[in-house]
Amino acid sequence: MSAHPDTEIDFEIRPSQARVPAAERERILAAPGFGQNFTDHMITMRWSAGRGWHDGKLEPYGPFALDPATAVFHYAQELFEGLKAYRQQSGSVVMFRPQANAARFITGTRRMAMPEVPEETFLRALELLVAQDKDWIPEGEGNSLYLRPFMIATQRGLGVNHPSDSYLFCVIASPAASYFGAGATTVKVWLSEDYTRAAPGGTGAVKCGGNYAAAFVAQQQAVENGCDQVVWLDAAEHQWVEEMGGMNLYFVHGSGAGARIMTPALTGTLLPGITRDSLLKLAPTLGIQAAEGRISVPDWRQACAAGEITEVFACGTAAVVTPVGAVDGPSGGWTIGSGEPGPVTMRLREELIGIQYGHRPDPFGWVHKVA
Ligand SMILES: *Cc1c(COP(=O)(O)O)cnc(C)c1O
Repeated sequence: MSAHPDTEIDFEIRPSQARVPAAERERILAAPGFGQNFTDHMITMRWSAGRGWHDGKLEPYGPFALDPATAVFHYAQELFEGLKAYRQQSGSVVMFRPQANAARFITGTRRMAMPEVPEETFLRALELLVAQDKDWIPEGEGNSLYLRPFMIATQRGLGVNHPSDSYLFCVIASPAASYFGAGATTVKVWLSEDYTRAAPGGTGAVKCGGNYAAAFVAQQQAVENGCDQVVWLDAAEHQWVEEMGGMNLYFVHGSGAGARIMTPALTGTLLPGITRDSLLKLAPTLGIQAAEGRISVPDWRQACAAGEITEVFACGTAAVVTPVGAVDGPSGGWTIGSGEPGPVTMRLREELIGIQYGHRPDPFGWVHKVA
């Protein structure tokens, strides 16, 4: 017996005997969409109170058989991550900052009273799946293989006073085109005054599925009002801007050489995005000052009218950097700048994508080579 059994988990490799035929795979990769098609394999690993992590496998992608009384179906003890593998022009296959996802997953497990997946095990799972299914990474800038690690509570029973005593960790992979379609078009956002995403002491800072379950009704309201995405405000005053749908927000002040960017600070109700963090670090290397701060809805509106806020964009793994062109809400709306993607937004987008696809220097060592 090892003193650290968790760090020694390895994965049994069971290659699929029924892979998607190459011609069918190529047809899928020509227009991958987002989150619709999955590769030939998945990673699974189980945890129980007595054994810790065990039974790690790379196995054929396929459904789970779960008892209807399985805890996750009733009390939503679930956690997920999202990151991408890219095929670079040189042919290399890389992931972007996977250690940051591993670390955030650990933070999430603590909040959700789940067992931690050791960082090295999390990374090994990702590397194995990406290496095994690398033929599923579509070529071309903007295209990627989206990786979805997640964990669910698997104890059978409806007892509600304690966390599950068993869990399943899984990683699946899905070829992806850029999330909001090719190129960068602006989105129009809806200020949600009826609903909040997260309150102090809640789960807003972790990637649990329940946060999304509670958000769909607000997203529907945004669409009913002719908008693309919800902007979440703080729970107490409904005044301070937090984030947009499943992405963090940045505000561009000024223009040209004096442009600077600001993103709402991590108060505990915002999700600490890895893209957000990357831009905070990357922007200063491009001569763009970057800071965390806070902004209210009235100040946002007024600063746009005064020409002080020139651009706004959202950022996240799935859609990278997405310009916001206009705002609407129960108390009226306004346009941001010209309503078109702005130069600071596009510069940051190009730089970040350039690092991911390997045609810009990677000063922070963010790119993690798999093959
Ligand atoms: C995942 C997520 C983000 C973005 O995080 P990235 O690590 O940049 O992908 C932002 N907000 C919410 C609510 C999220 O779930």
